[in-house]
Amino acid sequence: MNPKMGNLIYAGKAKDVYETDDPELVIVKFRDDITAGDGVKTENFVKKGFYNSIISSKFFEVLEEAEIKTQYIKLIKPGYMLCKKLEMIPLEVITRNIAAGSLLKKFPFKTKQELNPPIIQMDYKNDEYHDPMLNDSITIALDLANQEQLDMIRDITIKINNVLKDFLLGKNILFPDFKIEYGFDNHGNIVLGDEISPDTCRFWDSKTSEVLDKDLFRKGESGVMDAYIKVASRILAKEDLKKWNIENLESEF
Ligand code: UDP
Repeated sequence: MNPKMGNLIYAGKAKDVYETDDPELVIVKFRDDITAGDGVKTENFVKKGFYNSIISSKFFEVLEEAEIKTQYIKLIKPGYMLCKKLEMIPLEVITRNIAAGSLLKKFPFKTKQELNPPIIQMDYKNDEYHDPMLNDSITIALDLANQEQLDMIRDITIKINNVLKDFLLGKNILFPDFKIEYGFDNHGNIVLGDEISPDTCRFWDSKTSEVLDKDLFRKGESGVMDAYIKVASRILAKEDLKKWNIENLESEF
């Protein structure tokens, strides 16, 4: 039986976190809000939360199968994810396989330049300071994590990148970059949290280079939800959909 949903304990830009009657578990509600540019540009797309939750849940399941610890327990129903409660670390851990986005504004990389080995970058999750890029000394001085924890975060992130890059390539999707967040569980273990979705990743069609992520919204282009539905349709198997009584994804929209 699922735990009972309690009070709202945290409201982010696109998700809400609720306590439950089990102190070790929370319910993450994926909302339809979408934001860009430090939350300056905002909109609401019908059913975005539904699609992001089923996409994230599939990625978490793929990672759990690869023995990576995540906060994911199960999707109660689309939009509502049951998770282990974590104490989140305010780091945005960004992995880049192909140069895109802000990297091109800050450094002289060429558009779509392959980055091998991938770049792992950590930004301070802090809107007031506009998420500045960190180095290990600043992170340690700010007491966000110690060296051992940073090394562990990097090791886990490299593994996550390898698992997801291969999984996505099998679905004809390139994985230029993505952002993940970690937290501590109540035993002090570093565990993957947050979400993995077109809001937080770049996904490009491997044959046509069609953009299948939030960049469409950032650039004011149309077809944002069509792109998200395309990602969901490619990565989720029929059995995944059956668990949530979804006949087919397009009919859900
Ligand atoms: N990203 C994110 N949240 C942020 C910043 C970045 O999820 O606050 C993701 C973004 O979707 C992309 C990757 O991290 O997949 C790298 O983003 P980038 O630094 O290029 O910034 P952007 O161009 O998205 O502003």
